Amino acid sequence: MEKVDVAIIGGGPGGATLANILASRGISTALVERQKDFSKEFRGEGLMPSGNEVLEQIGFNLDDVDYRKVEEINLFYKGELEANPEIEFLKKGELRWVSQPQLLEKLIKNASGFDNFIFYRGYKAQDLIYNEDRVDGVLIASGNHEVSIKAKVVIGFDGRTSMVRRKLKFEVKEYKLQPDVLWFKIPYPKKFLPGSQAFFSLFPKSFLVAVPVYDEKLQVGWIIPAGSYGELRKKGQEKWIQYIKEKSPKGFADHLQKCLDEKLISDPFILKMTLDRVKKWNKKGALLLGDAAHTMNAVGGQGLNIALRDAVVCANHLVPLMSGNPSSASLDKAFDAIERERISEVRQVQEIQSRPPKFITLSEFSVQLIVPILRFVFRFNFMTALREATIKRMSRGFSEVKLKI
Ligand SMILES: Cc1cc2nc3c(=O)[nH]c(=O)nc-3n(C[C@H](O)[C@H](O)[C@H](O)COP(=O)(O)OP(=O)(O)OC[C@H]3O[C@@H](n4cnc5c(N)ncnc54)[C@H](O)[C@@H]3O)c2cc1C
Repeated sequence: MEKVDVAIIGGGPGGATLANILASRGISTALVERQKDFSKEFRGEGLMPSGNEVLEQIGFNLDDVDYRKVEEINLFYKGELEANPEIEFLKKGELRWVSQPQLLEKLIKNASGFDNFIFYRGYKAQDLIYNEDRVDGVLIASGNHEVSIKAKVVIGFDGRTSMVRRKLKFEVKEYKLQPDVLWFKIPYPKKFLPGSQAFFSLFPKSFLVAVPVYDEKLQVGWIIPAGSYGELRKKGQEKWIQYIKEKSPKGFADHLQKCLDEKLISDPFILKMTLDRVKKWNKKGALLLGDAAHTMNAVGGQGLNIALRDAVVCANHLVPLMSGNPSSASLDKAFDAIERERISEVRQVQEIQSRPPKFITLSEFSVQLIVPILRFVFRFNFMTALREATIKRMSRGFSEVKLKI
């Protein structure tokens, strides 16, 4: 049996960051990650200034990590450019598409420099351990090797399929109508998108998002109605690529055809988007954070950044407590305070994230009505202040998050 102050389940960006802060402040910390290789887990890579600020606060810089800046975003409809808004943080090169496996390896390496940190790589958390009705540990296993970790605090930073959320039957508020995303990568189209540009392309009942990523590739996400991939797969890749080409700007369509001819399209994979949050973030002495507490979809590249910010707020509350011998009541009070400090930002982001997926339920007729409105929003000066206020909050955060300990 291992004994620690804090056991964190999930070595994603949130869990790895929290482990770093706690271990560096002298708190014995166990981090449990089911994957041996971080690239096996798909997660968002768009690092906003709000997330980068957290990494800077823990003394981490991105020098040894591959990333690519995204400097412009274009909006296309029926192959025509509808908007190319001036966005301040993009112009400054502050949106970075960061290799998550490299970022996580570097965070783990940093934490491993502290004697009181232990990393269980390739161990899956199987169940929670209780003392009477309160969680006071976690049972983990790698193959046949089981370890019981006893901890004063157990944190579920275990993402959208959270075991902790499931086992403790947390009550969930769900945003319905979340679509699927068909992901694939192609070489970056240098001729069509000089520099480092992302784009959105609106189709009837679906839309395309394409972002330049660190390995000289373009990551393409086709947002489609939930459950529709089965039909597409039956038709075959050439058919659905043909559909995307017909609706896309010519330069991109030509590039896509070339990639198809030269077999340069990576194997596509389908991912169900989820957007929800638990109604209360702690139960029976266990705390949920990051996607485990509030699963984020891909809209606006927020989830990674929100998880990093959860980690800082959690550390601010836990570190002063853990240096003593905290009572259950004082821990529960701290968990409530963490939720109170984070919920407003999470709620506002999720409201914004819930809007674009509704777009794909619209008919072509409705889309034709909406596109002029979008054009209006992007082109007219008096809309600029409103647009910029939202972009500022989405990029720099809705609340201030500072490491105080
Ligand atoms: C399609 C898509 C695109 C996205 N794009 C972006 C983007 O561009 N920018 C952005 O900011 N966000 C994006 N997001 C959201 C982002 O990926 C998540 O919000 C973010 O990764 C959450 O971080 P986390 O640390 O809470 O959880 P995760 O990153 O999900 O990490 C959880 C970890 O827990 C581990 N784990 C799970 N169960 C167990 C267990 N039982 N035992 C041990 N380990 C376990 C997992 O292996 C995983 O490593 C996207 C999400 C989706 C679905």
